[in-house]
Amino acid sequence: MSKMRFFALQELSNRVPPEVKYPSNKLSDYYGSHVFDRKKMQEYLPKEAYKAVVSAIEKGTPISREMANLIANGMKSWAKSLHVTHYTHWFQPLTDGTAEKHDGFIELSEDEQVIERFSGKLLIQQEPDASSFPNGGIRNTFEARGYTAWDVSSPAFVVDNTLCIPTIFISYTGEALDYKTPLLKALAAVDKAATEVCQLFDKNISRVYTNLGWEQEYFLVDSSLYNARPDLCLTGRTLMGHSSAKDQQLEDHYFGSIPPRVTAFMKELEIECHKLGIPVKTRHNEVAPNQFELAPIFENANLANDHNQLVMDLMKRIARKHHFAVLFHEKPFNSVNGSGKHNNWSLCTDTGINLFAPGKNPKGNMLFLTFLVNVLMMVYKNQDLLRAAIVSAGNSHRLGANEAPPAILSIFLGKHLSAMLDEIARQVGDTRMTPEEKTTLKLGIGRIPEILLDNTDRNRTSPFAFTGNRFEFRAAGSSSNCAASMIAINAAMANQLNEFKASVDQLMEEGVGKDEAIFRILKETILASEAIRFEGDGYSEEWKQEAARRGLTNISHVPEALMHYNDNQSRTVLLGERIFNESELAGRLEVELEKYTMKIQIESRVLGDLAINHIVPIAVTYQNRLLENLRGLKEIFSPEEYEELSADRKELIREISRRVTAIKMQVREMIEARKRANQMDNYTDKAFAYQETVCPFLESIREHIDHLEMEIDDEIWPLPKYRELLFSK
Ligand code: ADP
Ligand code: MG
Repeated sequence: MSKMRFFALQELSNRVPPEVKYPSNKLSDYYGSHVFDRKKMQEYLPKEAYKAVVSAIEKGTPISREMANLIANGMKSWAKSLHVTHYTHWFQPLTDGTAEKHDGFIELSEDEQVIERFSGKLLIQQEPDASSFPNGGIRNTFEARGYTAWDVSSPAFVVDNTLCIPTIFISYTGEALDYKTPLLKALAAVDKAATEVCQLFDKNISRVYTNLGWEQEYFLVDSSLYNARPDLCLTGRTLMGHSSAKDQQLEDHYFGSIPPRVTAFMKELEIECHKLGIPVKTRHNEVAPNQFELAPIFENANLANDHNQLVMDLMKRIARKHHFAVLFHEKPFNSVNGSGKHNNWSLCTDTGINLFAPGKNPKGNMLFLTFLVNVLMMVYKNQDLLRAAIVSAGNSHRLGANEAPPAILSIFLGKHLSAMLDEIARQVGDTRMTPEEKTTLKLGIGRIPEILLDNTDRNRTSPFAFTGNRFEFRAAGSSSNCAASMIAINAAMANQLNEFKASVDQLMEEGVGKDEAIFRILKETILASEAIRFEGDGYSEEWKQEAARRGLTNISHVPEALMHYNDNQSRTVLLGERIFNESELAGRLEVELEKYTMKIQIESRVLGDLAINHIVPIAVTYQNRLLENLRGLKEIFSPEEYEELSADRKELIREISRRVTAIKMQVREMIEARKRANQMDNYTDKAFAYQETVCPFLESIREHIDHLEMEIDDEIWPLPKYRELLFSK
């Protein structure tokens, strides 16, 4: 066994979970203690400054320099009570994860005395000089300045000794370079569009908020084993590894008991989350061994997304303390379930109505029906945009595989709801509704609440499922930033609602009554979006064929799927709703394609290196041993006996030679393919070339290595194996 593998396994056997203590018996004693929330603002800010922040949060009014100074000062005093020494603008560049640049409060006063200062100017805007963040050609290199600006709607928080201020990240010329800026725009767009539609029914509604409840799946691997796997360290997934004799067939891990080391990690994670005001609630094992899930109570989408980013960061840090590495990759292990990040999405009015929950009275139900039908149409028309928002090198291993949503978008509503829509669509009388028809409709919809209560057949294979009071977008990958899906969904919804409203207005101008106009458009929309509804098994082969018949798109080619960010419909949504301008949209697409290229490039390099420098030499060593053995046999036995005894070994030697030769040849060809791709100037061509000419080698080289793993003596195999990575606790 290689030294590295040996020591890793030895270290593992000595692990003891560290003791984790709750700060207090009462959660409320420490919940939110590290967040500058309204309660703390009230305590630390002068009245007028407090009012200024609240009005900025609620109405988006600008904060004056004078007020900013007062707020910064109060924030600093609060932070100092938690022994904070540094502050940072915390933002979400288009790479994975978050970025921050820490500055001390320390400054020199005019008479050269050391003082601690945090001014309003520093709170509100910073120049992180972040010329190396991806920007998709937006910033010229000579104008490398980007600015971060405070997002008042997400409260400041303290991690370790640093005060973190959530910010947006924009270029000198005002283009968004992050996820948060377009997310805020999409949320504002859906707020405006949904409010206008709501006002057709209820004039009291003046705001619509977007809720997001994410479910984060992840794997934990012991850190010493992780460190002995260069592929895991460098690419986040295993590029080789034969399946373990036991994997998830028994499904005995799912909801099974959580091992003590993992429990300790989860407990500490929960405590830290709660201090940061992140309402994490459920923790459980997932389907695959060593796979887990964490989910909070849903929150406003912007805050929920910040919290998800923060949680991912906390998880990495806390895992390190517990000698684990946390894997967010969508498919760390072949033939073992991958990880997703379900996005539970709903819209809610300022009057407290969840627009995806069937109301109690007919009017409320009409509101529900309107939003429900518009979601159907939104997904139907924007299949390609929604897919573009979630595809990536990592997620491509899940989509279309029989464990995760297919690369085909469809909506699951449940039998009853679906039948009800069909009934409405089939109702006659498209010129005027008779009073009876109106009554049936109202009664029909009035029955929804009961129907939904026993609607328990939750379809797990649907990429976009209605789950009683929300939609669950399940295609997003575990490593993704939820903002990507939330931007697409909410922008598309805003666009759809605007169209709906325009159609209703048009009919009303023609003299059709309001109820009648709404009903007519709903009916049309139900029929027009029928193809997107699917109640069956989304993983099945029949569905692929059926979806093709229905004209739904099915794209598993990553760069091709990404290109749809720029198709006509996506442009109508993203440019039309002013989420992006032309150069931002082009920049975003470029960044995504380049990210894809880079990921495949790294995987290909790492695989080539491991194959040639780790695997081939071991294969040759083992082969030499076999040859040695044969020579020995030949010396001792008679030629006849030798022939008989050596047959299997000779065959094995031949087999190993064949595989070694194939590996070497394919690595050479893969390098050539990479070279050709790298020479392309155009980033689109490059991404396509990586998908079409480099990716296939990752599979075929791996196949040979995985066979060698089974043929070669376990004692000398250099890398920790799947059974060690997945089953050690
Ligand atoms: P699952 O059965 O899909 O594993 P979970 O209970 O783990 O469901 O997670 C459900 C998620 O949905 C939680 O994050 C929860 O807060 C969220 N959720 C519940 N209701 C809503 C809602 N109305 N809007 C948005 N998210 C919601
Ligand atoms: Mg779910």
